[in-house]
Amino acid sequence: MNPGAQDVRADAPDPLYEQLAAYAGRPAATAASGKDPVNLPMIRHWCEAMGDTSPAYRGPGAVAPPTMLQAWTMRGLAPAPESDDRTGRSPAYDGLLRLLDGAGYTSVVATDCEQEYLRLLRPGDLITYDSVIESVSPRKTTKLGTGYFVTTRMDVRANGEPAGTHRFRILKYRSAERPTQRKAPLRPRPVINRDNAGFWAGVAEHRLLIQRCTRCATLRFPWLPGCNACAGQEWDTVEASGEGTVFSHVVMHHPSFPAFDPSGEGGPYAVALVELVEGVRIVGNVVGVPYDKVRVGLPVRLEFQRMDPDLELPVFRASEGG
Ligand code: ZN
Repeated sequence: MNPGAQDVRADAPDPLYEQLAAYAGRPAATAASGKDPVNLPMIRHWCEAMGDTSPAYRGPGAVAPPTMLQAWTMRGLAPAPESDDRTGRSPAYDGLLRLLDGAGYTSVVATDCEQEYLRLLRPGDLITYDSVIESVSPRKTTKLGTGYFVTTRMDVRANGEPAGTHRFRILKYRSAERPTQRKAPLRPRPVINRDNAGFWAGVAEHRLLIQRCTRCATLRFPWLPGCNACAGQEWDTVEASGEGTVFSHVVMHHPSFPAFDPSGEGGPYAVALVELVEGVRIVGNVVGVPYDKVRVGLPVRLEFQRMDPDLELPVFRASEGG
């Protein structure tokens, strides 16, 4: 059971554990009753969900699948109102969970259950049960984090006769992964192939290179294998002067992807289509002005910005106040 769990230190004093262990043996629910008697519609739904076609669970003389034991005791998704005395709820289990929450063990995962069947359940059987906090483990460290296993045992009765036990174990834990310590994600890498390698070679030298058809002299950007004007495949390059204006832009509000978040605060940012004085257009970030100061016609100037140790990109700095 729980093969990933290890004692943190068997001899380390753990005052919290002593408090938690005092809950062992206390009731979690007393004289509680099932919401419905054992009934055929619930049996049918269960069998459909499980794909169980056994004739034992159908028609006159049907019994309930023994593994449905817990289903007869479940309260539903919505918390039962305080006035519902069928829950038999005792304050001990809530107190135990509050103690763990308060100590920072706020995450929970169900780890396993064990059931024992003492008597078949039949439609019409009235279900009652008691539940007890059976044990709390010493502090353990698992792959999920460090915490305590809490085991409850439910003793289920049908028409007052013992029908089975349901033992249920959860791990209340403090997550091993601290989101605030996560490294900021990197921007996606550009896809560099034989058709655009020359462009990225230019970026590495802080030169923005525009392709030029050597047959008809048409400039083109982004880089393409052939000329859209004359279909010529031969080309050379001209280096952009770096002057341009915002031709169009969008402001990204949501969802923000941290790698594209220049403010680091999840705020909006502008992405512009910049028309270079040479006549071609290029998509890039506008820097140096707040996102809401970016406007069509804004004069910008090319510069190269290091995004991370392995990535430099052309960006456009507003050359006036916006
Ligand atoms: Zn051409």
